[in-house]
Amino acid sequence: MGYNVAIDGPAGAGKSTIAKLVAKEKGFVYVDTGAMYRGLAIHFLEKGIEAGETDKIIEACKDAEVTIKYEDEQQQVYLNGKNITHKLRDEAVGNMASKSSGIPQVRAKLLELQQGLAREQDVIMDGRDIGTCVLPNADVKVFLTASVETRAKRRYDELTGKGIACDFDEIANDIKERDERDSSRETAPLKQAEDAVLVDSSEMSIAEVVEAIVKLCK
Ligand code: C5P
Repeated sequence: MGYNVAIDGPAGAGKSTIAKLVAKEKGFVYVDTGAMYRGLAIHFLEKGIEAGETDKIIEACKDAEVTIKYEDEQQQVYLNGKNITHKLRDEAVGNMASKSSGIPQVRAKLLELQQGLAREQDVIMDGRDIGTCVLPNADVKVFLTASVETRAKRRYDELTGKGIACDFDEIANDIKERDERDSSRETAPLKQAEDAVLVDSSEMSIAEVVEAIVKLCK
């Protein structure tokens, strides 16, 4: 069994940025489970399925194989043998992932892949249900959050920094909607595990958050 660190929290809390830095410092493998949901979402979209078409999504799960490889320590996501990593961050993919991840069959499809990665090596895995469902016996559990305003501001700065025009209120509303969907679903909702350490990064720098989490690790 590897050493397992679970980081859960809402969209935009900085989980992936922080987890990557902790992974580097501690020599863990960073596993991004959101990317796996996004990988399946690409499969559904390629089949022309819409987010509300639950039966079609369940059927489409049968011929989707998501696998993970590491190239230069970066996680690469393969869908049926094809590297689709460059498509993962598309807006439509994020929307489909957010909606289809509420379907139990979609979650079941990825559970074994996630647990297998954590069995074989030391990992820091981020998502919504890692500490509660995927790795209930993780050595360290962190619930990383930040206020809606802080998360929306970070996303706004990231997009405008790339020269992409966007609207702050729209981003904040989208974040609120995703929080609501992730927290209210029946299967594996986003919630803090009882034994998770709460880290609110609203008033913390990246370095401070990394330091706090590194201190919790062996
Ligand atoms: O973290 P990221 O935004 O890439 O995740 C994409 C979507 O996948 C999220 O909106 C969330 O609904 C879902 N997800 C999940 N469980 C996880 C990771 C992500 O339901 N462990």
